[in-house]
Amino acid sequence: MVNWQISATKSFIYKVCVVGDGGVGKTSMVLRYCENSFKENYIMTIGSNFSTKQIELEDYPNYLIKLQLWDLAGQKHFSFVRPPFYRGATAIVYVFDLTRRSSFQNILDWKAEVEKVIGNDKPYLLVGNKIDLAEQGNREVGEQDGEALKDEIKAIAYYETSAKQDVKIEPVFKDITLAILKKTKKI
Ligand code: GDP
Ligand code: MG
Repeated sequence: MVNWQISATKSFIYKVCVVGDGGVGKTSMVLRYCENSFKENYIMTIGSNFSTKQIELEDYPNYLIKLQLWDLAGQKHFSFVRPPFYRGATAIVYVFDLTRRSSFQNILDWKAEVEKVIGNDKPYLLVGNKIDLAEQGNREVGEQDGEALKDEIKAIAYYETSAKQDVKIEPVFKDITLAILKKTKKI
């Protein structure tokens, strides 16, 4: 007798907001992840964009997961438009620029702004971007500082990435997806 193993596909869509100061590389990270491309020219995000990407998890082949990545305008003067975009987020990626100390110091403010809207029971991850520039002698935030902030804010992980050179971009979105699945008891 043949035992047909039917493993039903489980489909989920998760909204993930990518948050941090203007110019840290949020749009670039999303572009790298979703389209595997990079643009040198700075185009300021007005309001918000979102891109969707299906994520493959080797350990969960029957899970069909789409990440809806929301990339918010980082400029402080757009703060009035931001709260609605946090609504419904299942996870947050906080991004600073390893070559700009102020963007690191502002992470706590970003976290407070987000948590006013969605509370703090959603998983979040901390990213220091532009590791390529940091390694050329422009580093303003040490790896230890990043790790310490990750512990302080209880983020699920800390990664030093480069959207430009495609360093650690995939792991950021994989980790956050696994954290969402765990938190929502889907795995
Ligand atoms: P956002 O305002 O946070 O969305 O930042 P953008 O993605 O628009 O990036 C701001 C600028 O930094 C752009 O000129 C990008 O080309 C550049 N940039 C973004 N990520 C990296 C990176 O990993 N390395 C380098 N060298 N430049 C980057
Ligand atoms: Mg942007």
